[in-house]
Amino acid sequence: MHSLNFPVGTAKYPGGSLGEINFLPGWYAYVGSAMGGLRGRIKRHLRQDKKVRWHIDYFLAVGMLKEIITVKSRRKIECLVSCYLAEKLPAAADRFSVSDCSCKTHLYLAPMEEQMRNAVEETLRKIKVD
Ligand SMILES: [Zn+2]
Repeated sequence: MHSLNFPVGTAKYPGGSLGEINFLPGWYAYVGSAMGGLRGRIKRHLRQDKKVRWHIDYFLAVGMLKEIITVKSRRKIECLVSCYLAEKLPAAADRFSVSDCSCKTHLYLAPMEEQMRNAVEETLRKIKVD
């Protein structure tokens, strides 16, 4: 699981399967997995000159990445993480990055940084208990 928190300005999501989305200013958390290799996946998120391919690529093109939190697990826990975040935060966009799962979204929005931090910290605590 990795979660990216970042503030973005209002920006339009340029399409793909989601159509156009207006992103409000605020703090966003994206939940993803990197079962094929965490280092490579994170490097990719940080690279500016990549080919835009996934939902998160479009988003990172308009947002500013502030932080990456990683959790090591043998299980695929990203959807569990997403469920916990959904209890605390509204979805930032429906069907964002959920092509192989039944979550409503993997992208969440908090207007203020503190709200985002609280939601992420509580989620991490819950994951450790599970
Ligand atoms: Zn999911």
